Amino acid sequence: FLQKTLKNVERLNSLLGDLIDISRIESGEMKLRFRYFNVSEFLETVVEEMQLVAQLKNISFSFSSEQNNVEAFGDKDRLRQVMTNLIDNAIKYSEAKSFVTVRLHDKEDTVEISVSDTGYGIAAEHLPRIFERFYRVDQDRSRALGGTGLGLAIVKHIVEAHGSFINVQSEIGKGTTFTFYIWKTSPKGITS
Ligand code: ATP
Ligand code: MG
Repeated sequence: FLQKTLKNVERLNSLLGDLIDISRIESGEMKLRFRYFNVSEFLETVVEEMQLVAQLKNISFSFSSEQNNVEAFGDKDRLRQVMTNLIDNAIKYSEAKSFVTVRLHDKEDTVEISVSDTGYGIAAEHLPRIFERFYRVDQDRSRALGGTGLGLAIVKHIVEAHGSFINVQSEIGKGTTFTFYIWKTSPKGITS
């Protein structure tokens, strides 16, 4: 009984955190702290931190990058939140024994970061709506997995606050890839 209660308290706590974030973002109150940081190191750490969650579901979770010392300009704490949400989804919406991969590509003015899974996939008709708050594709499965549908709304807001965008490619039964870009130097209009 206590364990169930604890689970519910944790769930409410995380929901409350998400709601506070959304309202801060929408009221323009969320201040980002922009810094130059090593993206490859950052992603390596995030993947290490989430490795146990993947292992519990027998999912092979890896990080792949051609370069080691790629720098970018952004709010690391907020970007950690982006990565955690995308990785959490990739693991949650995949069968056991599938693959989740974080990739980093060094482009000219930006770095491209993607999170791919070989999971359930999302049907084309739902794709335009998944970034809306509270939107969940499969009500039954999603409810069993216990989220609220705020994760991707927060992700999109944070990426846009970096003067950038996120996109998604998916095929039912094959898997899903989310890709976003972060500027390597301070873009116009972004101040810390
Ligand atoms: P929360 O993130 O608030 O815990 P959630 O995961 O349901 O809840 P979002 O992260 O916003 O909410 O995702 C919205 C919906 O998009 C999910 O309910 C799921 O149906 C679908 N979705 C998101 N990521 C994936 C993915 N990698 N593979 C398949 N479906 C996905
Ligand atoms: Mg989610």
